[in-house]
Amino acid sequence: MAAQDHYKVLGVERKASQDEIKKAYRKLARKYHPDKNPGDAKAEERFKQISQAHDVLGDADKRKEYDRQLSNPFSGAGRGGSGQPGFDTGGFGDILSDLFGQARGRPPGGAGSRPRAERGRDLEAEVTIAFDQAIAGAQVPISVATFERCPTCSGTGAKPGTAPIVCPRCNGRGVESEGQGLFSISQPCSRCGGAGTIIESPCATCRGEGRQRTVKRYRVNVPAGVREGSRIRLAGKGEPGRNGGPSGDLFVVTHVQDSPIFERKGDNVEVEVPLTLPEALRGAQIEVPTLDGRKTLRVAAGTRHGAVQRLRGEGPKRLGKPGRGDIRYRFVLDMPDTLTVEQQAAVDDLAKVFNGNPREKLFVR
Ligand SMILES: [Zn+2]
Ligand SMILES: [Zn+2]
Repeated sequence: MAAQDHYKVLGVERKASQDEIKKAYRKLARKYHPDKNPGDAKAEERFKQISQAHDVLGDADKRKEYDRQLSNPFSGAGRGGSGQPGFDTGGFGDILSDLFGQARGRPPGGAGSRPRAERGRDLEAEVTIAFDQAIAGAQVPISVATFERCPTCSGTGAKPGTAPIVCPRCNGRGVESEGQGLFSISQPCSRCGGAGTIIESPCATCRGEGRQRTVKRYRVNVPAGVREGSRIRLAGKGEPGRNGGPSGDLFVVTHVQDSPIFERKGDNVEVEVPLTLPEALRGAQIEVPTLDGRKTLRVAAGTRHGAVQRLRGEGPKRLGKPGRGDIRYRFVLDMPDTLTVEQQAAVDDLAKVFNGNPREKLFVR
């Protein structure tokens, strides 16, 4: 696998600012995201390259190192060989947070004394579903950009035929101590970054990272009752861990399209129901929509504009709680813009009998 030119992939100049790189990355990542190009292998390959380029150029330190390698291609590459700490500081979590809002990277464990097992990062993906799907639940396909173990080196990061060696600085302990006696301070080894091993000849495929970009596809079971912004946790579907650490989790954030009829209000939904003047005055039996059909509602005589009547337990399923919410029907008076001749005559008759002045009390001092 020939190393790609990250600058060319993002279409930016060598002297581009971090901001320009971020902008170029976002634009391309949106365009080539697998969810936008289903079944398009070329777009997916492009997406991986774009992600990879941003992994490097989006991180000021990694970019510096990359620039150094570009100008001196024969120098060692890879995290062990270059003496770089073994954990990512930028990486995919940050990219996701750029693209999709918050992503939760877990910091590497405290200053341990062994080559540490590192939990993979949590990932976040977004899905947009119809209102009805949020009510009934749905299976939704998603694609997630993540990493997989490098097939060339089986994840060791070392060139095939070689192996990582015990770090000579910390003798494999992963920590070094500074100072003496009572006042010594232990910190992650500056040579191996706490891994306890270093890679002298990094694998060419993954540049010593031990992993490479991939796109994973899942069908997510979106439970009935989700709403805008709900987070569904898929345990273990985040980035794979390192050094035998567990995988992170994948959080799927749901976006729910609006319904023209129902408005979600917490555990409940609200519907605006127009009433004619006679219905509001005399009361009526009316049909109203429910989430799974229709029901008859008895409207009391003298129902006012804005009055609310509810059907308990007919609303959406409540997430993480038993039972269902309510449907709240909010009545509004249906005011005609113009009156027919007949209506005008009827209203004139009405005015003869409703002839009091309800505003009199406004003038009592
Ligand atoms: Zn490799
Ligand atoms: Zn070390």
